[in-house]
Amino acid sequence: MVVLHYTEMQSAEAALQRMCDPAAEVSAHYLITEQGEVVSLVPEDKRAWHAGVSYWRGHTDVNGKSIGIELDHPGHALGYREFSEPQFEALVPLLARIVRTHDIPRANVVGHSDVAPARKIDPGELFPWDRLAEYKLCLPRPEKLELGDPFDNDGAFYLALERFGYDIADGRKAVEAFQRRWRPARIDGEIDGQVRAILFQLLLDRDQGRTR
Ligand SMILES: [Zn+2]
Repeated sequence: MVVLHYTEMQSAEAALQRMCDPAAEVSAHYLITEQGEVVSLVPEDKRAWHAGVSYWRGHTDVNGKSIGIELDHPGHALGYREFSEPQFEALVPLLARIVRTHDIPRANVVGHSDVAPARKIDPGELFPWDRLAEYKLCLPRPEKLELGDPFDNDGAFYLALERFGYDIADGRKAVEAFQRRWRPARIDGEIDGQVRAILFQLLLDRDQGRTR
């Protein structure tokens, strides 16, 4: 898998210092500065400590199964804003090379909030997943949505959400994480019709082999 993060720090220098401090117990394979410089920190075959307690598609040891990329960014705490263009332009070829080298399915290129919904909200609703999807580096947002209510009740929705990959231990937070990734216009933890339809379509696409 690949897990994308933001650093939530004032500068790339501060983030580097933190990730190189053994006492901080955090690390990532790559840091990409807002200016678009890629800094390699941990070899890809080594474990980095970026995901923490996490879960994705039945796997709990996310750190042992993923490459972590930190995006230099102030995050929600220090002034949430668009990700810089040079940073995105540096991310695309790096990610393309990583998914090709390790044969990583698009569905396993995720945000930190996807694998730790109860604890994390990075990289957040402004991360340009749609643009990444144009490069086929993550799953695209479903375009056409079936009408009608595909799930009988909230319980059925949560089970489907878990089947798609999310940890649903904290249901509301899981829905928020899903919205942050797939319907960023409204993140309120409510299971509304649009959210149901998006999840249903994602699972349908996967079951029918349209996405991998
Ligand atoms: Zn993170």
